[in-house]
Amino acid sequence: MAQALLSFKTPIFSSASSPLLPSRPLRAAVIGGGPAGSSAAERLASGGIQTLLIERSPAGSKPCGGAIPLCMLDEFSLPLDLVDRRVTRMKIVSPSNLVVDFGKTLKPHEYIAMLRREVLDSFLRDRARSSGADLVDGLFTGLDVPSGPSDPYVVHYTESVGRTALAGTRRAVEVDVVIGADGANSRVAKAIGAGDYGYAIAFQERIRLPEEKMGYYEDLAEMYVGSDVSPDFYGWVFPKCDHVAVGTGTVCAKAQIKQFQAGIRDRVKEKISGGKVIKVEAHPIPEHPRPCRVKGRVALVGDAAGYVTKCSGEGIYFAAKSGRMCGDAIVQASQNGRRMIGEDDLKIGYLKQWDKKYSTTFRFLDLLQSVFYGSNVAREALVEMCGDEYVQRMTFDSYLYKTIAVGDWKENVKMAWNVIGSFMRAKVVGREVERLRSV
Ligand SMILES: Cc1cc2nc3c(=O)[nH]c(=O)nc-3n(C[C@H](O)[C@H](O)[C@H](O)COP(=O)(O)OP(=O)(O)OC[C@H]3O[C@@H](n4cnc5c(N)ncnc54)[C@H](O)[C@@H]3O)c2cc1C
Repeated sequence: MAQALLSFKTPIFSSASSPLLPSRPLRAAVIGGGPAGSSAAERLASGGIQTLLIERSPAGSKPCGGAIPLCMLDEFSLPLDLVDRRVTRMKIVSPSNLVVDFGKTLKPHEYIAMLRREVLDSFLRDRARSSGADLVDGLFTGLDVPSGPSDPYVVHYTESVGRTALAGTRRAVEVDVVIGADGANSRVAKAIGAGDYGYAIAFQERIRLPEEKMGYYEDLAEMYVGSDVSPDFYGWVFPKCDHVAVGTGTVCAKAQIKQFQAGIRDRVKEKISGGKVIKVEAHPIPEHPRPCRVKGRVALVGDAAGYVTKCSGEGIYFAAKSGRMCGDAIVQASQNGRRMIGEDDLKIGYLKQWDKKYSTTFRFLDLLQSVFYGSNVAREALVEMCGDEYVQRMTFDSYLYKTIAVGDWKENVKMAWNVIGSFMRAKVVGREVERLRSV
């Protein structure tokens, strides 16, 4: 078990009505060691909570494009050597193959960081461990929910096969608080009856390219839109150390995902020819937050809670951020592990803060997706609009720094007119593309 570290790093505000814990610190189990779980566990352990972090596959890699915003490097003190590629050029390609250079307004120090999830996740897990969390290589299998406000939850898990002498052993541990950070197929969410959410399925191939072809993607990422690539999302080519990740996703036509993957491969066939597929991966991406994200002393974070933005499919930053916010809320409410906490502490200290900070961002990106990804007409308009430097600046400010850029009102009015103009022009181009595809 983790040492009870009482470092008192976090500011304390009192949850004075909850009982003091007489002879031990608060005990927490975090299920899932992705960005959400590790960030939560790090904050809990360094804030004095006895923390168990259960990860079923520490050597695995979550299927993911691995693009993170610049602000995450600073905010989460990520060493720069975790970053495979610094993307300073982004191309967006329309159904009619209109190509727009989307990174023109990036400042010299700005870039999108591309990394491999196996690298990021093991770094974050190690950091949680050095903060005092006890890392268990095991599969969470179930949760017994107590009836009393201070009674323990019982977390059931199986020690991973083949890794220790005790491999395969079933275990049960008593804890006061549980954080479900076990991703889109969360068993913790099921255990507390948190309800379902709609999801997209995303498919990705990692392709090792010959050196000269890799050179093309040195600092370049590409996004492709079109009904050939996805009916409601985009296809991507993201560069990694010695390979590119080529993928796509869809909500409304999951059964055809392989056909859309063939579509994105076809669009980039010259650029990836001679490449060798080194990994094929697929995974659900949540569409919306779950109906319930806190129940009793159990909280969901990251994909388990449903924190992926529509339109961009971005979830790594939001996972780490929600894990951290939830961990902080528990540390504060428990006064660094000295008091029991309750459902209200999680609702006020974590959920309310989260919704206040991010619900507008999520709603805004939801709206953009429904406006721009629904038809080839809209996609042509989207790409044309992306050529506008003001649109680019606003987009990158919002993405890189995770604030909704407000901008200048005159420019905003101009942008609105430009959107209408783009739609009208795109209607003509879009119809033509549909006609050619149906021939
Ligand atoms: C193909 C694809 C591409 C993507 N590209 C991007 C991108 O470029 N940028 C971006 O920001 N987001 C991207 N996303 C979204 C991003 O991957 C997720 O939002 C992010 O991984 C969420 O982190 P998490 O910690 O909440 O969950 P996860 O990363 O899913 O971590 C959950 C962890 O829990 C573990 N676990 C699950 N069940 C159990 C269990 N029963 N017992 C123990 N452990 C368990 C898993 O092994 C895993 O390590 C992409 C998603 C997909 C599918």
